[in-house]
Amino acid sequence: MAKTKTVAKTKTAAKTKTVARTKTAVAAHDKATIASLRDSLTAKRRELLDMYEHDVHAGQESTDDNADDFADRANNSFNRELMFSLSDNERQMLIRVEDAFQRLDNGSYGSCDHCSEPIGLPRLEAVPWARFCINCQERDERGTLDG
Ligand SMILES: [Zn+2]
Repeated sequence: MAKTKTVAKTKTAAKTKTVARTKTAVAAHDKATIASLRDSLTAKRRELLDMYEHDVHAGQESTDDNADDFADRANNSFNRELMFSLSDNERQMLIRVEDAFQRLDNGSYGSCDHCSEPIGLPRLEAVPWARFCINCQERDERGTLDG
């Protein structure tokens, strides 16, 4: 008869503790704040798209029926035509706003894209599409931001 061998497994005591470093760790601001910032971003996107639609109407009347449909499509992917009609500033802005929506969706919104520090609320309120904290933003503008 085989005797059950009791092996002293002391190793198990040292269980590797998995630190829950999920995306919630980077939620820099509370839900209500994020929601109101999302509203600002939505308004900004609307404003930019309206600008485009205004251009379209001024330029050609044939796209009138497709205005709504077009806004939908523009929400999903950047239409070349849309990008082309916007000024450089508006285009940059729209890219930043879209980028901010992505960060809202993946939970990284409100944290600096470079150093992961929370972006200050006054800054987010003024610039809801801000990608960097003020320090990194300054470095980015000076071209000294690495990575
Ligand atoms: Zn930073």
